[in-house]
Amino acid sequence: MDTKNPPVSNFIRAIIVDDVESGRTQQVATRFPPEPNGYLHIGHAKSICLNFEVADEFRGRTNLRFDDTNPVKEDTEYVDSIQEDVRWLGFEWEELRFASDYFEEFYERALLLIRKGLAYIDDSTVEEMRELRGTLTQRGVNSPYRDRSVEQNLDLFARMRAGEFPNGARVLRAKIDMSSPNITLRDPVLYRISHAHHHRTGDAWCIYPMYDFAHPLSDAIEGITHSICTLEFEDHRPLYDWAIEHCEMEARPRQYEFGRLNLTNTVMSKRKLKQLVDEGVVDGWDDPRMPTISGLRRKGFTPGAIVTFCREIGVARAYSVVDEQMLDHFIREDLKLKAPRTMAVVRPLKVVITNYPEGQVEWLEAENNNENEAMGTRQIPFSREIYIEQDDFMENPPAKYFRLFPGNEVRLKHAYFIKCEEVIKNESGEVVELRCTYDVETKSGSGFTGRKVKGTLHWVEASHAVPAEFRHFEPLIASEAEEDGKSFLECINPNSLQVLDGFVEPEMKNAAASDKFQFFRHGYYSVDPKFTSSERPVFNRVVSLKSSFDPSKA
Ligand code: ATP
Ligand code: MG
Repeated sequence: MDTKNPPVSNFIRAIIVDDVESGRTQQVATRFPPEPNGYLHIGHAKSICLNFEVADEFRGRTNLRFDDTNPVKEDTEYVDSIQEDVRWLGFEWEELRFASDYFEEFYERALLLIRKGLAYIDDSTVEEMRELRGTLTQRGVNSPYRDRSVEQNLDLFARMRAGEFPNGARVLRAKIDMSSPNITLRDPVLYRISHAHHHRTGDAWCIYPMYDFAHPLSDAIEGITHSICTLEFEDHRPLYDWAIEHCEMEARPRQYEFGRLNLTNTVMSKRKLKQLVDEGVVDGWDDPRMPTISGLRRKGFTPGAIVTFCREIGVARAYSVVDEQMLDHFIREDLKLKAPRTMAVVRPLKVVITNYPEGQVEWLEAENNNENEAMGTRQIPFSREIYIEQDDFMENPPAKYFRLFPGNEVRLKHAYFIKCEEVIKNESGEVVELRCTYDVETKSGSGFTGRKVKGTLHWVEASHAVPAEFRHFEPLIASEAEEDGKSFLECINPNSLQVLDGFVEPEMKNAAASDKFQFFRHGYYSVDPKFTSSERPVFNRVVSLKSSFDPSKA
């Protein structure tokens, strides 16, 4: 058991504790069963944490199983990215499995059902089947093909497998109960024809099992004890149990459902995420605005922050929407003592310090993290020309403005006091440069107590500054807009990405992909692995420094 992270209890863990203590379960076995039709997202992370952690706690095992029964949508790119993401989160699976490994066994079990009179071939069209299925208030009606003989069914099923029929011509259905109040039990489809190339089995098959058939059997084959899934599958549980019982599976896994994770201001279904990628709204599955694991990683999230988030939001049966700022809270906490704190100017305004000797550069000492002394100090240059933030100057400031304005004095972090003496504008009247004077007596760390100033600004010395790009993000989906009956693509926040050009301190030349920093007053940033070049680092803002959001009240 992980002693650093004692288990956070939840109703699923409670069930497992009870099963272990009563001896019903000898060795806990769980699985994480993604469909390789997209990249994993933060919702999957919740499921991953739940499955792996509860098995680890009881020295059990967790398989990673690809639920690859729909060849049309699946791809090895997804198979690879999913493994990478699970590992990156810090979990190691017992065995890597593919539902497609079991195609032959599924087929055998389907034959068994046919022989027992529990499955039949239906030639109805999709529309006819929908018609006969009934509704929540109306019972279904038996298909005219329901009473085919076992021989006929065996023959047709074999010919379906042999490729004699086109897509959609026939299906294999379970013979359960067309009048069941649970629509899932109204003779669900078990197999469909799909003449499609499969990323693992190639062209060996042209019939593919449905999820509701493949899933329980896969769990049973692997000896899974607790099959944890999301709430939409609650109505499918009787079918899950039916398949295991009538297919005469030796192992008896049980299904437990929990509420899926939803986040505000984003979309979480892989179908929609794929649409964002395909339509070029984002620059890939790993775009930092995406709620994917790879997107969060590229933005600068750490596995620790994601795993802690998943633990803390808890596991409940109820449907819930978690404020995305909750995620931000955990990354701030994680980076607070780890990320070096340096200075970056994202919208530069040049300042010339007129009384500072021309050509002189002095090196000042700056601590790397004032909350973590062990991170040491660095030397930063100071000279006659520096950049400050455009936002830190106002020509006609309102009352209580403590930053720079004509005649006012401020402190430069780690350096001196400067006073604004003159404002230089271009032809269109925009401020392009400030002329200031500095007071040599006020050097940081010199113990100067002569007078106080209220504003402290960050800055970067001009001649050593490294040009850098900064990427600031806002939520991908403008809030609540989706509720107005618009499609999610119509609700994309036009300001979700802001690209800024500025400067960072000279030692940032050596920053490597995914290195993380706190830029004084701006927030936490991570070096973008995709757009950073040897000449120019690109920094993704992971999160701003503070928010009014209180996670204890969420
Ligand atoms: P999506 O609807 O996003 O495409 P999915 O359920 O089709 O997701 P799968 O690949 O089938 O995706 O999911 C693998 C596992 O992850 C399943 O057990 C599923 O229940 C779980 N899962 C998927 N989305 C969430 C979520 N938002 N919260 C918690 N668990 C989830
Ligand atoms: Mg699914």
